[in-house]
Amino acid sequence: MNNTKIEWTEMTWNPTTGCDKISAGCKFCYAEVMAKRLQAMGVEKYKNGFEVTIHEDELHAPYNWKKPKVIFVNSMSDLFHKDVPIGFIRKVFKVMKDNPQHVFQVLTKRADILRYYDSEGWLEWTHNIWMGVSVENNKVTKRIDLLRETGARVKFLSCEPLIGPIPNMNLTGIDWVIVGGESGRKPRPMKEEWVTDIKNQCLKAGVAFFFKQWGGTNKKKTGRLLEGKTWDEMPEIELHKSI
Ligand code: SF4
Repeated sequence: MNNTKIEWTEMTWNPTTGCDKISAGCKFCYAEVMAKRLQAMGVEKYKNGFEVTIHEDELHAPYNWKKPKVIFVNSMSDLFHKDVPIGFIRKVFKVMKDNPQHVFQVLTKRADILRYYDSEGWLEWTHNIWMGVSVENNKVTKRIDLLRETGARVKFLSCEPLIGPIPNMNLTGIDWVIVGGESGRKPRPMKEEWVTDIKNQCLKAGVAFFFKQWGGTNKKKTGRLLEGKTWDEMPEIELHKSI
């Protein structure tokens, strides 16, 4: 487990690492850059670079974290990548179920695989598992529908990096929306009107809204104020509720 600078979580836990790019939001994937850097540094966990790799030895870790935490699962991968066996995904879900003192946030772009596994009854949803899909533009809003069809108790959207407008989202059954701009050396621009539109859609639908950052080449400078204020809303449930 690692402390993280990601504003909407506390820690990261990576029982799998590695991935493949599947949509426009992946273009400047931070996980890929980091995995290759850690591989070059000789870090054992990243000896396969950005190839999908299962880490059975990570499964015991959350049992040892006694203090309740909000944990982003797989910041360096996508748990629903086709090369992650369903048997291993079920082990990850068991770990999350066994540790109701923590909140686990799982985020995927493979909403079709998520939906398929759930429809087969292979995923057990406890209150402490928050399931999210990435929605970077209006071409991938189908992911929202697929997420909605799952049995996840808490459902969220990560619109980051937001690279286009997403008008008229169906937010029925969605608990939380995170928006953020791209950062790095060549970030794609994010228009303020796209962000305010999503914020207004959330306000109208009664969905918690979290504005992470404007991004850009100097994200410290661009900051995270939207219309003069910070938006740090979280789903209106107890963060560390027992199952
Ligand atoms: S799905 Fe996520 S981890 Fe995988 S390549 Fe895309 S951005 Fe990177």
